[in-house]
Amino acid sequence: MVIGQLFGIEQSAFWKKTFNTDLIYVFHSGIFMSVETLGALLRNGSRPRLSMDIDEVLGNTFENLLHVYNKANGTNFTIADNVSFDLQWMGLKSSAELIPYYINTWRSRHSDIKFLGNLRLLKALAGHYEIDLVTAGSHEHENLSSIDALRNWLKMHMLHEFPLVLCPPNTSKATLGYSVYVDDSPNLAKLIAGREDKVQLLVKGPWNKDYHRTDIKGIIPVDNVHHAVNLLIEAARREPRKLRAA
Ligand SMILES: [Mg+2]
Repeated sequence: MVIGQLFGIEQSAFWKKTFNTDLIYVFHSGIFMSVETLGALLRNGSRPRLSMDIDEVLGNTFENLLHVYNKANGTNFTIADNVSFDLQWMGLKSSAELIPYYINTWRSRHSDIKFLGNLRLLKALAGHYEIDLVTAGSHEHENLSSIDALRNWLKMHMLHEFPLVLCPPNTSKATLGYSVYVDDSPNLAKLIAGREDKVQLLVKGPWNKDYHRTDIKGIIPVDNVHHAVNLLIEAARREPRKLRAA
């Protein structure tokens, strides 16, 4: 507790639940350094730019994709089987083979894709961070109909007021100038790990198990988007706001 007070960090129930550990351990961990990075970004004088992922973060796209895929191929894959991001566990040569199913999922089943977040909390988050909804998925395929479906989905859940950013093909989100990422991609985590200027709140799934660790600077594993948003709001509230009145 003394150390916590020294560094201006109390062990609130939420904070403790988030880290599920004692502060002394946290002090030595990657998570502590990541929280320090967040604090520095928040003290910087302007709202940090935040990239909010869509597939498997704001919406359960993949579960619906598997439904479409299983129906077409007579298979029985489930989300729990999803053990690697490259989808080789499905017997596919590359994830590119899933593109038609991905597009079809957005086109034909977008109303079944659940919104996993909370609009009120996202709006509260926007008071502290400049949020873009950033997707690599639909745009990668230059498929206008799936992008239209995605825009419809955002409207259905009142998310259309947040700017939608389509990550250019063959470009990592890590290069787009954001400081904070809420994202499940282990490929992104690979690029953020060890950095002092960026933080990824990694939404845990079976496909990113390599990063369910507390000792990697830049990576904060979280259970879901709700957990990420709460943690980010808590971090912002802990920092005295230095924003000048507009
Ligand atoms: Mg994702």
